[in-house]
Amino acid sequence: MEIESIFSGMRPTGRLQLGNLFGALENWVELQDQGHRCFYCVVDWHAMTTAYDDPGEIRENTLEIVTDWLSAGLDPEKSVIFRQSDVKEHAELHLLFSMFTPLSWLERCPTYKDQIQQIDRTDLRTYGFLGYPLLQTADILLYRKVFPEPKTLLNEYKLIPGLDGRKMSKSYGNVIHMSAGPEEVAEKVRLMVTDPQRIRKTDPGDPDVCTVYKFRRIFDAADAEGFAARCRKGTVGCVECKKHLAARMQETLNPLHEKRQELMKDPGYLEDVLRSGAGRAGAVARETMEEVRAVMGLG
Ligand code: SF4
Repeated sequence: MEIESIFSGMRPTGRLQLGNLFGALENWVELQDQGHRCFYCVVDWHAMTTAYDDPGEIRENTLEIVTDWLSAGLDPEKSVIFRQSDVKEHAELHLLFSMFTPLSWLERCPTYKDQIQQIDRTDLRTYGFLGYPLLQTADILLYRKVFPEPKTLLNEYKLIPGLDGRKMSKSYGNVIHMSAGPEEVAEKVRLMVTDPQRIRKTDPGDPDVCTVYKFRRIFDAADAEGFAARCRKGTVGCVECKKHLAARMQETLNPLHEKRQELMKDPGYLEDVLRSGAGRAGAVARETMEEVRAVMGLG
C-alpha cells in the first residue's frame, strides 16, 4: 500500500501498559523510522467525551502519555507529536461534518451502543459521545487533501494477558506498565498466575494454562520452549522459571524506564514537544480547512 500520511492517536488515560507498547507504539516507531509522514496525537477531546464530569487528570495524563511515547522511541524531530485540543481545526471540521451526517449512522455505530451499556459511571447520552466517530474522522482527514478515502494499516498484534491471565485492564488490577522499573517488573512477575494444579516443583505442569509462559513467548522466545518442556517434565520450579522471565523482561523494559526517568526531570521539554508539534500539525490543518471552507461555500 502506498502511504502518504499516517495519523494515529491515544486517549490520555494515564501511564501506558505493555499492550499499548506491543499493540501500537512499536509499530508507530517502525513507521516513523521508515520515513513516513507520521502524526501522533494525544486525543484529549476524545477523553473528555467520557470524562467530562471529572476532567481533572486529562492534562497530567497527556504529559504521562507523551513521556511514554518518547521513552518507546518516538522522535519529535521525525514525527509530529501533538495534543488534539491545541489544533482547533479538529473541532471546526468535526462541526462541519456534523451538519450533514445523519443521526441514524451515528446511533448504529456498534461501539456507541456497546459503551452506552458498559459505562454506567457517566451519563453518555450526550452529543459529544454520539459524535465521537465524526471527531475521529476529522482527526484523520485533516492531514490529507480534500478528501481521499483513508485506508487502515493493520499490524501484527501480540496479545498481552494480564497478570491473572485475563485481559490486561486497569479495572481488573492486573496491569504491567511499559515503563515499569526493575523492582516493579520483578514484583509483577512474582504475582503472575501459574498452573494451579502444580503444587510441588516435581509435579508435571501445563505451560498452556500458565501466564508466565504466555509472557515468556513474548519476552524470551529463544528459551520459551525449553522452559515449557522442563515444566511438563517437572524438572523446573515456578520460582526459577519466574526469575528467569523477570530478568528477560527487565532487559527489554529497563531502557524505556531509564529514558522515562530522564524525561521526567524536564517537564518543560514535554510542553515544548507538544507546542512544536501543534505548530506543525496546525500548519497542515489550516491548509486543509481553507480548501474545506471553499468547497462548502464558506469563508
Ligand atoms: S514452571 Fe514456569 S511454565 Fe511451568 S507452571 Fe511454573 S511458571 Fe508456569
